[in-house]
Amino acid sequence: MKIGIIDADLLGRQKHRFPNLVCEKLSGYWKKRGAEVTLLMDYDHFEDYDHVYVSKVFTDTPVPEWLTETEKVHIGGTGFYFDKAPNLPEEIEHHIPDYHLYDQWIESEVEKARAEKGLLFNEKKFRIQFKEYTEYSVGFLTRGCFRKCEFCVNRKYSKVVKHSPLSEFYDETRPKICFLDDNFLGCYMWKELLEEVIQTGKSFKFKQGLDERILTDEKCELLFSSKYDGDFTFAFDNIADYDLVHEQLKRIRRYTNSTSIKFYVLVGFESIDSIDIENAFKRLRLLMEFKCLPYLMRFQDKNHSPWKQSEYRGMYVALARWGNQPNLFKKMSFRQFCEANQKLHKTRGTLCSSMKALSEFEAKHPEIAKEYFDLKFGD
Ligand code: SF4
Repeated sequence: MKIGIIDADLLGRQKHRFPNLVCEKLSGYWKKRGAEVTLLMDYDHFEDYDHVYVSKVFTDTPVPEWLTETEKVHIGGTGFYFDKAPNLPEEIEHHIPDYHLYDQWIESEVEKARAEKGLLFNEKKFRIQFKEYTEYSVGFLTRGCFRKCEFCVNRKYSKVVKHSPLSEFYDETRPKICFLDDNFLGCYMWKELLEEVIQTGKSFKFKQGLDERILTDEKCELLFSSKYDGDFTFAFDNIADYDLVHEQLKRIRRYTNSTSIKFYVLVGFESIDSIDIENAFKRLRLLMEFKCLPYLMRFQDKNHSPWKQSEYRGMYVALARWGNQPNLFKKMSFRQFCEANQKLHKTRGTLCSSMKALSEFEAKHPEIAKEYFDLKFGD
C-alpha cells in the first residue's frame, strides 16, 4: 500500500514551521500497517498512490482549485471545514504520531541551504526553525472548550474533556512537550494531568494559550513554578473582560515576575472603527502596567479580513507592527515607534505608513491619541 500525505500549510505558507499532527498520526497509523508513507511536496503525482491525505489547519492556505474528496483523495482539517471539521476515526486519532514524517524534508532543506550558502552556512542556527518537528512530543491532553467564542473553531464543543493520556503521544527521547489543548485549565482533571506532566521532568508549553479568566491560586502555584518552555500565553480578546483580566493580572503577579507573559489581543472582530482601536489601546495599557506583552491578532476567517476594509486599516497594521515586536514595544510608545519609522523613511517630504496612520487617526480622534499614544511599557 502506498500512502501520500500532504501538509497543505507547509506547501502553501512560506514561513510555516509547525508539524501537522493529523499528518503525523496518519503516517504512524499507516506505517504500523506496513504501508509505504511519503510526505508529498506537491499535488502532481496522486496516481502513484493508493490513498492521498491532504490536511490543513489555516483557512487562508491556498490549495489547488481542483482538489476535492474522492475515494482516493481524503481532505480534512479546520483549514477546509473550520468549526465543522469531522473528527478522525478513533484508531487514527489515538495513534502515536510518527515524529519522523518530516525528517527527509528537513534534511533536504538543510542540504539546499548548505549548497546555497557554502562556507557561510551555520547548520546549528539554520536547524532552529525545525525545532517543533524535532524536539517536541505533541498532542492533546484535553479537547474542547466551554466558552464558544464566536471567532473560534472550537464552537462545536461545550465543555473540556480528557482526550489522550500523556503516554499516547509522549516520546521520552524528545526533550520537550508541546500541548495543543484548547482550554486545558477548564478541564476538571487539570491538576492531576499537570502533575503528571511535571513529573516527566521535561519542559512543556501549551501552544494555544491558557485561559487566564479561570486561573486560581492553586493553578498559579503549580503553573508558575513548573519548567515551562518559553512564554506563558493567555488571551485578552474581549474588552468586556477588562475587570476580570485586571484581577487575574494582579493574581499572576503575586506568583511570578516572569517577563515572558504574553496575551493575544484580538482586534477587528467586534468592529473596525475608532472604538475598536481605542479598546485595543485600553487592553494594551493594562498589559503594559503589569509588564506583560501583547500579540495583536487581526481577526480574519476563511472569507473575510474585516480590518482590511476599515478606514483605519493603516492603524491596524501599525499597531500590530509595534505591539508584536517585543523589543520595540518594551522600549517605545506608539508615537515613538511611528517617529522611529518616519526617520527611516526614504522618500523625503512624505509620511511613512505608520506615521500617516497615526497622524490621520490623531486628527480625527485627538482625545484617544492623547490618552494612549504616549504610553510606555512598565510606566
Ligand atoms: S476560550 Fe479559546 S478555545 Fe475557548 S472558545 Fe474561546 S477562543 Fe476558543
